[in-house]
Amino acid sequence: RLDLSGKRVVVVGLGSSGRAAIRLALLRGASVIAVDKNDKLAPLKEDPAFHGYEMDRVSTELGPHQLETFLSASRIVVSPGVPLSEPILAYAMDSGIPTISELGFAAEAFPKAVKIAAVTGTNGKSTVTTFTGQILQQAGVRTFVGGNLGTPFSDAACECFKFPSDDPPYQAAVLEVSSYQLELPGSFSPSVGVILNLSPDHLERHKSMENYGETKCRLFERMDSSKLSIIPHADEFLRKVAYKYNSGSTKAWLGALPGVQLDSQARRAVVVVPTTKAEARLYLSGLKAVGSHNAQNAATASLLSLALDVGVDEHKLQAAIGQLTPLPHRMQIVGQDKKGVLWINDSKATNVDAAYTGIKGLADRKAVILLGGLAKVLDEDGSLGFKKLSDLLQNHRAIVTFGAFGEQIEKELKEANVSIPCFRSLTMEDAVARAEKLSKQGDIILLSPACASFDEFRNFQHRGEVFGQLATRYITSTT
Ligand code: ADP
Repeated sequence: RLDLSGKRVVVVGLGSSGRAAIRLALLRGASVIAVDKNDKLAPLKEDPAFHGYEMDRVSTELGPHQLETFLSASRIVVSPGVPLSEPILAYAMDSGIPTISELGFAAEAFPKAVKIAAVTGTNGKSTVTTFTGQILQQAGVRTFVGGNLGTPFSDAACECFKFPSDDPPYQAAVLEVSSYQLELPGSFSPSVGVILNLSPDHLERHKSMENYGETKCRLFERMDSSKLSIIPHADEFLRKVAYKYNSGSTKAWLGALPGVQLDSQARRAVVVVPTTKAEARLYLSGLKAVGSHNAQNAATASLLSLALDVGVDEHKLQAAIGQLTPLPHRMQIVGQDKKGVLWINDSKATNVDAAYTGIKGLADRKAVILLGGLAKVLDEDGSLGFKKLSDLLQNHRAIVTFGAFGEQIEKELKEANVSIPCFRSLTMEDAVARAEKLSKQGDIILLSPACASFDEFRNFQHRGEVFGQLATRYITSTT
């Protein structure tokens, strides 16, 4: 498992991924210098996750990065939150110090016998990762689920150290992978990889859509024809970039066969795996998750589970689909009020494309939609990109904008000739009260902000929780 005895590993960034990488480096025998710019961090020894580890092989440097430390490293492991453009890191890389992402570092040590499905894309990663994990676990496959979501991949690799290398604790791993982790993927080469979609996001770090797309496609770089790469059939840009980074992996599609195809009402799906020739015909109507995009997510998860070739078949897929449980804050039903209005929390819709998908999935029920917060992506023409929602919003009851960009969002929607009533609230609390007044019997009230949350909240979870609490004033049933 790639012994690093006598080597010095510098781990940059001490969030959960960086900490997991330190544990893995220790198990691989290295000594570690743990660095982070934040000089307020508590000592690592106080983190219970390090109990039982040989902490005398770890030294910590907090505050401004030191060039000598980086240049003294046998290898550098970079956490996803640290930009590669950090001057001292960039200098060390230019000087030839081998540098890898936490994902790549974990992949080196992870047992090759465990099949990996990797999920990336702009929106829907966590949902598809979670659904795939649930399907595999319900089918009795011992599965690790994590990566960018929940437990870091390095911790899964650490867990494997407790077992003989020919008898790992997992049969499969499902990893959510972010574009940041794919900047230095090392030898990471999953059995199955999917890019769900690509829309403008994180451009402050990736600079352009081309860079962002190319980074995502590095997922496929080391995959050969025994492995399956999956992308949306309709996305020409992604198709072009994926072929550029093509490693000769076998291709399958979202929205065409081989791959996965849904009927027009998203009630049935056909799944075809070109590498194994496995097929399944599935009914999606028993799904508990709201919205046609979640039917798509469940179908994609079915494709990944089948393609891993770990004993899942049509029958097991169908049995698992009715049991899939969506994550909180993603089209989560909060409850119903006495007017019969359904309150839905999609706080995780932090960009316009995510909101578009959620709103589109409401089918023909009218909604009062709460939009607002900190708009983050500026289109090339300088706008916030809300025009894209205009046709979709046109069929609904009303819009309430809130937060830092509320006024600008309202202006953009009016310029795009959105003619349904549009009101502006300064805070979420006021927006909720207003939405309740505007709603009519049988409507939906949907929090689908299309913005980041940091103007008023700690994060999207906090925003969703506050919405949920405010909604409970009106809600009479939660089923
Ligand atoms: P991520 O982990 O990529 O941020 P999530 O699964 O947490 O994705 O979902 C984030 C938001 O993206 C959801 O709240 C929903 O609005 C939207 N979304 C979910 N699935 C999809 C999809 N398949 N395509 C586009 N948007 C989606």
